Amino acid sequence: MVKQKVAAAPSVRRLPAYLHLVRQAQREGLQYISGTFIAQELSLEPIQVRKDLSITRIMGKPKKGYAVASLIGAIEHFLGWDRTRQAVLVGAGNLGTALLGYQELQRQGLHVVAAFDVNPEKIGSRIHQVPVFSVATLEQEIPAWGVKTALLTVPSQAAQEITEILIRVGIEGIWNFTKAKLRVPDTLVVQKEDLSSGYALFCVMMQNRQPEASPPS
Ligand code: ATP
Repeated sequence: MVKQKVAAAPSVRRLPAYLHLVRQAQREGLQYISGTFIAQELSLEPIQVRKDLSITRIMGKPKKGYAVASLIGAIEHFLGWDRTRQAVLVGAGNLGTALLGYQELQRQGLHVVAAFDVNPEKIGSRIHQVPVFSVATLEQEIPAWGVKTALLTVPSQAAQEITEILIRVGIEGIWNFTKAKLRVPDTLVVQKEDLSSGYALFCVMMQNRQPEASPPS
């Protein structure tokens, strides 16, 4: 089987920014929003915005733009954010804890039902209301929850071993926050999130930043 690729991945990545803007427009009482306005606000080309939004199958009205409520619904539905996705998190360290407490993900339908860790001080506790279990019980707990999604925030050296257990218990998708390149079957969905790559870009931009011209004396 061929590894799953999302043809419109850059468009999908922009959808949350559109959603944020359109929700704001709704709070301000707007009924319609134009692609040109969205493009201006987000420093994009209008054609790009229209192309991106077309993947949600929404149609704009000539001269009026998109009906705000329908656009919100279309984006949320396309992303699956109008449904609850149950997940487990493995590795309840600093990053894992931050993710468990990140309300935005909950608003997007992600519901972490259980966390797993090796640290005896964490096992049996609750982090942001989420119960923490021993990683040794992964194989019993996950099938009981019937969860298909896992967030992986263990140290990189533990990532492959945990992944193999997750595959055995029927996990279908891993959101991987570790540095490890996971070896997985092609049928498994893996999204690798590397906070350092965004920071690397930021650092290079800071290094290359042109100092402001000093005012003439
Ligand atoms: P902390 O300071 O709480 O240890 P951290 O984020 O600095 O957090 P890491 O070393 O990155 O620590 O580990 C992340 C979490 O993963 C920790 O809570 C750790 O106990 C846990 N952990 C380490 N190895 C495993 C493993 N094999 N299975 C599950 N959890 C693990």
